[in-house]
Amino acid sequence: MSNSPSTANVANQMIELSHQLGREERKLAILGEGNTSARVSADTFVVKASGSNLGSLSATGVTECRFSGLLPLLTKKKLTDAEVDQALFDARVSADAKKPSVEAIFHAYLLTLPGVNFVGHTHPITVNQLLCSGQARNFARRRTFPDEIVCCGVESVFVPYTDPGLKLAQVMQKAVVAYIKRLSRPPRVILLENHGFIALGATPESVLATTLMGAKAAEIFAGAAAISGTPRFLTPAQVLRIAGRPDEHYRQKALGL
Ligand SMILES: [Zn+2]
Repeated sequence: MSNSPSTANVANQMIELSHQLGREERKLAILGEGNTSARVSADTFVVKASGSNLGSLSATGVTECRFSGLLPLLTKKKLTDAEVDQALFDARVSADAKKPSVEAIFHAYLLTLPGVNFVGHTHPITVNQLLCSGQARNFARRRTFPDEIVCCGVESVFVPYTDPGLKLAQVMQKAVVAYIKRLSRPPRVILLENHGFIALGATPESVLATTLMGAKAAEIFAGAAAISGTPRFLTPAQVLRIAGRPDEHYRQKALGL
């Protein structure tokens, strides 16, 4: 990492968020699962290094990267695994830093969205039992209770199963752009089929709240489905009533119009 106080401050916030997400009893991530990131400036962000553990993350497991080293990959048609690896190494601000997670590419993209300063990616048991089932799209599209709307948004972005790494980042970008076009608001949650959960937020607290509420919503969905086949979903009108009106300005800003 660079030695600037702002980088250290943001990295410390990201480390604290990682410890919260990695708490064993929350069952959001074990071993090397999941990763976190945070925007330092318009030029750089910090992200969990490859192979480190969320619950015990320390400063040596955090790598500062330049957006300019990773964002151009999103438009590349075909790159080999070796070329992607080289780009990950080259994006580091300090040559002493560890290799950033291969998921750093989608973190770089998500941290360019307006209002997104922190990103938390986990593999919660409750969410993944739905994402590994035929109910995955329903869980993304529908809502079952008001606090789910407040913390997780009117819908979640749904990304069909994709090979992790560059391809996943590209497919995710398309899905996020389509979401913003259709709903005129920022996503708070991205669901990766057969893979996991991503929360986006302005603060580490909002990323943690969204993750905990998303995991709770999944547990409620699964319980309701076990009792009566399909949960009783809120109607679109009920969802919009809780969420308030769409923000056209957001759509323009997010799409760069
Ligand atoms: Zn993952």
